[in-house]
Amino acid sequence: MMLYLHIPFCKRKCPYCDFISFPGREGEIGRYVGALLREMEQKSDQSGTKTVSSVFFGGGTPSLLPIPELERLFKGLRRHFRLKEGAEITMEANPGTLNPEWLRAALSLGANRLSLGAQAMQDRLLRGIGRIHRAKDVVLAINWAKEAGFSKLSADLMYALPGQSLSDFEESLRLLLGLGLPHLSCYNLTIEGGTPFGRSLKRGEIVPPNEDDELRFFGLAEEVLAAGGLKRYEISNYALPGFESWHNLGYWNRDEYLGLGCAAHSLAGGARFANTSSLEGYISALEAGKSPESERQLLSEAETQFEELMLGLRKMDGVILSEGTFERYAGRLKPLELAGFLGLKGRRARLTAKGLPVMNAILARLMD
Ligand code: SF4
Repeated sequence: MMLYLHIPFCKRKCPYCDFISFPGREGEIGRYVGALLREMEQKSDQSGTKTVSSVFFGGGTPSLLPIPELERLFKGLRRHFRLKEGAEITMEANPGTLNPEWLRAALSLGANRLSLGAQAMQDRLLRGIGRIHRAKDVVLAINWAKEAGFSKLSADLMYALPGQSLSDFEESLRLLLGLGLPHLSCYNLTIEGGTPFGRSLKRGEIVPPNEDDELRFFGLAEEVLAAGGLKRYEISNYALPGFESWHNLGYWNRDEYLGLGCAAHSLAGGARFANTSSLEGYISALEAGKSPESERQLLSEAETQFEELMLGLRKMDGVILSEGTFERYAGRLKPLELAGFLGLKGRRARLTAKGLPVMNAILARLMD
């Protein structure tokens, strides 16, 4: 069993972001943590006797949590859940919000993995995507985290940013490799309607990269990181052996997880369910002793099997399909194998180097 805690506070909203996060509402962190503690109590029943192997503080910006609030959360986690000895506890952090004291406190409370939203290592690109931090903040944050004692360190990088060249991206990859990071995640910028970037795209002020450019970025990440010893283990994630994220792997293996917090999603007991994405709605539901859940979908056998295939194929090792899933999809997997997009060995299916970059088209084909 895994836990996800959503911390929906940010200093400023990045113009491409469509995550649930509320800039300028840090004044409500205390009430929000109180609500999270109440939700832990509610949800602890659902974890039953299962031990928790991974806790992920995501956001938003978990590094905006003041140390006393972090202490309350860790106390609550230990009171309400059975944390496995050596559980992986990840904190997402914005390099523009960190300081050595916070990092030392997070580590001493039990966090043992830090995931930094670096995004790029060129100040002009960081300015262009509205980030509050600069490249030097990433370097400082990594050095402080190492000094504090974090060995599991990761950074997110984005590609296909407006004005970003392949050599910019290569420079970012090399700089982070040079700082000794054992894990990196590389995502392409997706521009969603309803964000300031979405509106700029509509007005023609942003030119989206074409598919070929995206493939070049995708290929470059693998080439540079493999040379530095980081193996791609999922379509967007790279790690030195042994540094793969437990939370990510659990997610793609369809392990059960409970999401706590505003807009947090869960997978447990054969259902996917989610909390309200209204900050006030979330806090006031819990203050009134009610559940903050706003949607629940019981998964049918067909939906479960599609998820098994779709999530499993994201991993480079592929997925050993259950018998029922293999039977349902064998007729659609074989032609993809013959065309060289997929390898099949018994019930194990994995994308080939030819299939990886076109994963979305393959999944669409499998959905038909
Ligand atoms: S820091 Fe992250 S969560 Fe917050 S607005 Fe920017 S991209 Fe969104």
